[in-house]
Amino acid sequence: MEADNDRNLQRWLSPLFLGSYAENDELLEKVVVELLRDHVYWRRNVHPEDPPLINAMDQHSDEYLQFVARMKTQLHGLSARLKNTAPFFNPRYIGHMASDLLLPGLIAQLVTTLYNPNHVTDEAAPVTLELELEVGQQLAAMFGYNTATRHKPCAWGHITSGGTLANDESLWYFRAVRYWPLAAAAGMRDAGFDPGPLQHFDGDFCTASDWQLFNLSIDQVIGLRRELLAKIHAALSTEAVSELAAQIEAQRVEALGMAGFQQRHTDFNTPCVMVPETAHYSWEKALKLLGFGSANLISIGVNERMRMDPQALAAALALAHAEQRPVLAVIGVLGTTEYGSIDPIDKIVAERQRWRKQGLNFAIHVDAAWGGYLASIFRDASGGLITHAQLRERFRHFPSASVYHAFAELRHADSITVDPHKLGFVPFGCGAYIARNRAMTDFVSQRAAYVFALEDDQKEIEYARRFRNLGQYILEGSKPGAAAAAAWVTHRVLPLDHEHFGRLCGQTIRNCEYFFDHLQDLSAALAGQARVIMPFEPDTNLICLAINPQGNRSLARMNRFAGRIYEQLRVGAHVDMHTRAWFGSRTLVHRSALADTEAARLMQELDLDPASFTLHPDASGEQADNIFLLRHTLMNPWLSGCSGTGLNYLDRYCRYLIELVRRELLP
Ligand SMILES: *Cc1c(COP(=O)(O)O)cnc(C)c1O
Repeated sequence: MEADNDRNLQRWLSPLFLGSYAENDELLEKVVVELLRDHVYWRRNVHPEDPPLINAMDQHSDEYLQFVARMKTQLHGLSARLKNTAPFFNPRYIGHMASDLLLPGLIAQLVTTLYNPNHVTDEAAPVTLELELEVGQQLAAMFGYNTATRHKPCAWGHITSGGTLANDESLWYFRAVRYWPLAAAAGMRDAGFDPGPLQHFDGDFCTASDWQLFNLSIDQVIGLRRELLAKIHAALSTEAVSELAAQIEAQRVEALGMAGFQQRHTDFNTPCVMVPETAHYSWEKALKLLGFGSANLISIGVNERMRMDPQALAAALALAHAEQRPVLAVIGVLGTTEYGSIDPIDKIVAERQRWRKQGLNFAIHVDAAWGGYLASIFRDASGGLITHAQLRERFRHFPSASVYHAFAELRHADSITVDPHKLGFVPFGCGAYIARNRAMTDFVSQRAAYVFALEDDQKEIEYARRFRNLGQYILEGSKPGAAAAAAWVTHRVLPLDHEHFGRLCGQTIRNCEYFFDHLQDLSAALAGQARVIMPFEPDTNLICLAINPQGNRSLARMNRFAGRIYEQLRVGAHVDMHTRAWFGSRTLVHRSALADTEAARLMQELDLDPASFTLHPDASGEQADNIFLLRHTLMNPWLSGCSGTGLNYLDRYCRYLIELVRRELLP
């Protein structure tokens, strides 16, 4: 496939969304009404012989009419208030991570809500729970995980309310798996049970140190647990097995709590989690929530592209190793929330290979809440990885070698977060957690199952049973089937490969490339008036800009200036949306997140006094500890591709920005 011709692309895009002018209103109305009627007939046909319960005469009573009037009044009030919502669907909206919704998902969500399935268990969702698990398989395949049950490890995944919950769940699972050997050894010591030599563990299991027991890979622990259970079952009576199982369960950190566990394992330090400086704040929340404490979240420095610096990671790992500080997980971000940058996942994987040999092991989770769907650009229709050379023919700059390798090596991560409600263009309330090895679920059932070494066909039955009781294996309980149905229909209509979903995602990248290539025009137009720079070259589809009035040397003043520009682009409570010509967002780059050389480079490019960018600003009002940036999320597919109409939203936005800057510069 050659680079998309504008006209073909426009035609391809035309039925996908309701549209900024609601051009597809008839299509939406027709299908929704059709499926609404279908729902009505379904109700009537559950037991067609039952007479209606709502009396038609009552429908004309005063009380009935009064209720209807009250309801309409309130709904009209709501509808009126909703008019001040941020207009995500419009190409003038380039602020947060939201855009128009794909029609298949939108309609699926609306229609499924009428049936209201609850995905806590298949008893409350006999039809749609299966679709949720299928979505998990579709996303897993897009990331390159194995989804064939005859091969091991086999991936699984499910829908969450969003990326935050999926991130929480990743650590919840890692904790359950990686602490398990410590509990098993303690429980066996208490019971005086010696399993003898093991295939999945070198040395004497019961006398191994906590450090050794913790530094096993996810797959090793899974194998170890199965092996130990087989030994227990072979050696003990059924009664003794359940007694020992209870002893092990009682030793788990989930049973004892962090404090109780620590009291029994005084030589074992609290594990840390490593994230890049650019990580989403949900990671700090996750450490607080799970009781590890935010002090055990270690921020790894980033490079000039805002990607995790592998050398900084290596240094942090060396320190952890020297201090015998266990590393629960290293998190790589695939599409940072503020810059869209792609961490070098391949390098994180390579670091793990290296440290495993030193006895230090860690799980890898990829937070691809934003960039996960970009993986569809890299997949052909049969699921194979497209070569870098082939991809390079379709874009001007994307993907850089570093970005390509990050996507190509995703399959080595232990789990991945991805948000269908971001770059998946489905309604909010739809994130996803995907794990490389579904056997991790052995460790989290709320009803501990110490069944052992099932035959392969029995295992399939067991997994099917588990996933039918989904609420037992995930953080959430009751949850809407409508969200899963939305993602499922979307992936059915637009499969997760480069010709379908990838074509849409590819357009977001092309828009970013267009903006990137035209920034010189913006700078040239403001020459002599202000400096406009892009502090970090984009990896994907987000672009940040810094703007400094000519002659200004103080960072704090520049920030105040940019803040005034941003005020014109901002929406929020108590701002009249209709007074806005464009909708943007902003971000702050903190001095603490940058290396000295990077901070110096940015000050030089902006012609600012380097002393005005400091960790500890004085009271002069000239210094600041952060740089204020305008942030642009370019996910609307129509931003640059409206040939024939003369409407190029990115050009228009640049003209508007020039106008805003000039207006703000007036004395
Ligand atoms: C958005 C985002 C999250 C949080 O996801 P929610 O769906 O908002 O809960 C986490 N990580 C990254 C990288 C994100 O962009």
